[in-house]
Amino acid sequence: MSTTSTSPAPEAITIQDEQGSTTAGTAEQRPLTTADRCDVCQAQAYVRAVLLTGELFFCAHHARKHGERLKDVALLFQDETRRLQETGQA
Ligand SMILES: [Zn+2]
Repeated sequence: MSTTSTSPAPEAITIQDEQGSTTAGTAEQRPLTTADRCDVCQAQAYVRAVLLTGELFFCAHHARKHGERLKDVALLFQDETRRLQETGQA
């Protein structure tokens, strides 16, 4: 007689956070708009970096200059520079 019980392991509790709670602060993507300006030169920002200390915005030019370093420390690195190519702006 087999007494092996094959009870299923307790399912891991998956944390679903679809209620829009603000637990993680601002480290989530949102569309960049023309109101978002590069912190260096005030041009329209196409990159947003969320750091522990706050947010930084960069235009495509300064994103290329500072982006690699920021990616290492940013909680969120949002890069929308490809939109520049889609709009075909020179
Ligand atoms: Zn800039």
